[in-house]
Amino acid sequence: MSASISVVVPVYNEEDNLKLLHEKISEVLKNIGREFEIIYVDDSSTDNSFEILKNLKDDNTKIVKFRRNFGQTAAMQAGIDSSQGDIIITLDADLQNDPADIPKLIEKYEQGYDLVSGWRKKRQDNVIRTFPSKIANFLISKTTATGLHDTGCTLKAYNGEVLRSINLFADHHRFIPAIFAQYSNKITELEVEHHPRMYGKSKYNIFRVFRVIVDLLAIAYWRKYKSKPMYFWGFLALAFLLIALVSFVLLILNLLIFKLLLLNIVYSVSFVLFLLSSLVSFAVGLIFESILKVNLAQNKTRYYTIETVL
Ligand code: UDP
Ligand code: MG
Repeated sequence: MSASISVVVPVYNEEDNLKLLHEKISEVLKNIGREFEIIYVDDSSTDNSFEILKNLKDDNTKIVKFRRNFGQTAAMQAGIDSSQGDIIITLDADLQNDPADIPKLIEKYEQGYDLVSGWRKKRQDNVIRTFPSKIANFLISKTTATGLHDTGCTLKAYNGEVLRSINLFADHHRFIPAIFAQYSNKITELEVEHHPRMYGKSKYNIFRVFRVIVDLLAIAYWRKYKSKPMYFWGFLALAFLLIALVSFVLLILNLLIFKLLLLNIVYSVSFVLFLLSSLVSFAVGLIFESILKVNLAQNKTRYYTIETVL
């Protein structure tokens, strides 16, 4: 039997887009001729989005409504959680992604990938949006080694089983490929259409840059050290300890030979500061190792994913 499809759409104040969006998605999916479901997650819109969603609900459509606005990542996670399809397609509700690209994504997916990421090569946003995004994509691609040009494009096709096993939080919807890559390396990209926003406005402003930076650091750390925290914190502790020891030796030398007051102060402060930093880093490493041990012992965490067992 051919793989079934779940389409997941996060919705926040998109009243003027939903009707056309639903028509387009439904038509495309009916033409594909597989079993499908469309899941809209209303992130507690303050406009008429929910009323409109209720009116367009049909047998293939599920609507999840949040009690308050939790953000795009939470909306996508809720849609993923209630999905059942073998393949999950995510896309934005604002018609900037084109549902007509879905068959292409599925065709590519079925060549043997677990994730096909949309690449908005001709992106239709202004330069204030696209320039920071270019830098972010470059950094994300380098630090997380996915090699994708456009990790922030919502339009993607995923292996449902793998995606449902991942927990998203913060603004991690922009980093799903980097997180996904920790579970499967069958990842590729495909050029997709991108349209200017016709109705409603973008929910983000330039300040998202700061969130992207801290999320990126956290994900780069997590990707490398989640199963070996001491290789980060322990090495950091050793490096700090080394600096503390060097400061100590310099302090002694200065006390015995050069006798410069200012240098005494500098070396003393540096010795104390780095010794404390070393202890703190070591303690943090130990805490993370303990958490990891407990999780592993309780079988809550595994660092591998199984494709098949024969
Ligand atoms: N969205 C959401 N909750 C939010 C903000 C956005 O569900 O708090 C949805 C929004 O309705 C859209 C998608 O996330 O479907 C992407 O948002 P937007 O188009 O504003 O982002 P941009 O394309 O400007 O990056
Ligand atoms: Mg948009």
